[in-house]
Amino acid sequence: MLRTTTASMWASSARILRQPLSSSTTRFSRTAAVSSLSASARLFSISASASSPPPPPQHYNSTTSAAAPRHPRVLVTGSLGQLGSGLVKELRSMYGNENVVASDIRKAPEEFMASGPFVYADVMNYSMLERIVVDWRIDWVVHYSALLSAVAEKNPALALSVNMTGFQNMLELAKVHRLRLYSPSTIGAFGPSTPKNNTPDLTIMRPNTIYGITKLHNELLGEYYREKFGVDFRSARYPGVLSADTPPGGGTTDYAVDIFHHAIRTGHYDCFLSKDTRLPMMYLSDCIKGTVDHLTHPTPLPQSVYNIAACSFTPAELTAEIQKYLPHFTISYPDPSRPDFRQAIADSWPASLDDSMARRDFGWKEEFGMEKMVKLMLDKIQAQVDAEKKVTNGPAAMAA
Ligand code: NAD
Repeated sequence: MLRTTTASMWASSARILRQPLSSSTTRFSRTAAVSSLSASARLFSISASASSPPPPPQHYNSTTSAAAPRHPRVLVTGSLGQLGSGLVKELRSMYGNENVVASDIRKAPEEFMASGPFVYADVMNYSMLERIVVDWRIDWVVHYSALLSAVAEKNPALALSVNMTGFQNMLELAKVHRLRLYSPSTIGAFGPSTPKNNTPDLTIMRPNTIYGITKLHNELLGEYYREKFGVDFRSARYPGVLSADTPPGGGTTDYAVDIFHHAIRTGHYDCFLSKDTRLPMMYLSDCIKGTVDHLTHPTPLPQSVYNIAACSFTPAELTAEIQKYLPHFTISYPDPSRPDFRQAIADSWPASLDDSMARRDFGWKEEFGMEKMVKLMLDKIQAQVDAEKKVTNGPAAMAA
């Protein structure tokens, strides 16, 4: 009952936000008369003592009392993707459901809608984003909307719009409304001329994929806004992220997720990368923890963009680890004379990252290395398969 009420409350809030906007054009070059932020504004830690917290918007219930310190209100874009839903869940457990506004351009599952506010937000539409920031009194934005490497390579024009215009819109909003902006970058921002092993934060960056070019552009623009306008821009270059519960969104490291589903469901996997393609990786919960630690770090960090990674492995090494649990599992690789288009993307990326600056500056530390990750992925996917079997066998058994 409570669930239904909450769900309809969020749904009606979302409807309010979906009403036609007076000016809904995509816009980056907005000329807002906003002065540079002071050092304290740049830090933007929220405290109740400086001034009493503003009342929450009328269209949702807040459990925050006037005396309690106010939590930041966070907007997460692209929240229905591989990484977004887990981050939203974590932030809601920290700040309360009503303080984390999830958004995307797709319909959210029922249980996601019931867990807190969800709104439609096309990141290419500046006015729409600004309305959300103003209506919900947003303080921080985690900007996850993007087209990933393989998808972007198939549609460069759309990737330029979503990845660059979308980011520029968020950055401009961060300047105008003094938001903290966390927007991840990627190992794809490096390029074939980057040193391949133990790649440091600061190095040669000449990406040759549209994904990498858009992400490097964002890194540089974010740094420019931080220097020029005092925008609190934070970014980490994620490696490939493995998750059992949420499907990957079309990246070159997706093989490292797909392989587990095939290992359990069919016992064989046709890998689209060559067996010795070494890439940096991490597990989803580490990605979320690292992101939250970075996002919430209270003091200014010496740099805007950091490498983070947990481990590096090749498809052959991953296969050998899976075979410890599933000895009959087999894998095949593409004919080297006819490589998949994603091989060239992977070949342009680092094999391992030096993330010592992230470890030093905001305490980045992974829990999962390859061995632990493999065990967890297999356990989780096996549990999903068992649950599916129960559902399929249930009615049949009853009918029998
Ligand atoms: P994903 O593809 O799974 O999700 C992206 C989301 O963006 C989708 O839900 C999609 O509907 C949404 N989106 C697309 N166009 C939009 C638009 N115009 N307006 C609003 N939303 C739109 O991506 P992810 O894996 O969750 O990645 C999140 C972020 O992390 C991205 O910036 C990505 O570049 C970065 N990253 C991810 C990985 C990884 O392995 N998953 C690795 C490195 C970096």
